[in-house]
Amino acid sequence: MKWLLFIVFSMGVCYSQQARLEIYPLTMGFYVFTTYGEFKDQLFPANGMYVVTNNGVVMIDTPWDTSQTRPLLDSIEKKHQLPVLMCISTHFHDDRTAGVNILRQKGIKTFCSMLTFENGKKAGEKLPEFLFYSDTTFQIGGIKFQTFYPGKGHTSDNIVVWFPDARVLYGGCFIKSRDAKGMGNLADADINEWPHSIKKTIRKFKSPQYVIPGHEGWYDKKALQHTLRLIKAEIKILKKKD
Ligand SMILES: [Zn+2]
Repeated sequence: MKWLLFIVFSMGVCYSQQARLEIYPLTMGFYVFTTYGEFKDQLFPANGMYVVTNNGVVMIDTPWDTSQTRPLLDSIEKKHQLPVLMCISTHFHDDRTAGVNILRQKGIKTFCSMLTFENGKKAGEKLPEFLFYSDTTFQIGGIKFQTFYPGKGHTSDNIVVWFPDARVLYGGCFIKSRDAKGMGNLADADINEWPHSIKKTIRKFKSPQYVIPGHEGWYDKKALQHTLRLIKAEIKILKKKD
């Protein structure tokens, strides 16, 4: 038993040191992809999503691990025999934008909000090519989706993307997974505004079937409510420290 545990443990260590790409089917035509980046000296997973339409594939956020951007595109092409048409980055951090230049080189249109562009420019992050100035509804190959800026939260520019027909709410880092034990990277967060922004989102998108957070598992439809609880707990901790 001891040996078995040792072998399993060693395999785990080797595995975690490799660049990784995981792709999970979510619901008809929707896929979540996960790659890994470094956070506090540890490898940490980040989620993005892609949606297959009649005309091609729409991607939400790029892989965090740039070495996995091409493998992701190859895998999409092989599996669906369709080009990737566009990508929307949901805020300026590199777990959302790291791959935009690679996508551009492939002729894929990269989008973000004006605010994300400005924040990214200041922070020296990779910048999408096309901008939208307010909440925007797209209609691509029979699939409708809308971007929504809920207000400040994880960053001042974070947006969510809503797919009304499948009732999929892609939240990015604005929404925490049920698996999240804490608030993660708060470097650019507005912890006091975040609860208001979450409540606005809960009111706006009623009964989502799937809620996709920026990191960790997405099995919980109540991830917005969970995020609210985590933020409130964090605010309490910060107040005690004052
Ligand atoms: Zn993130």
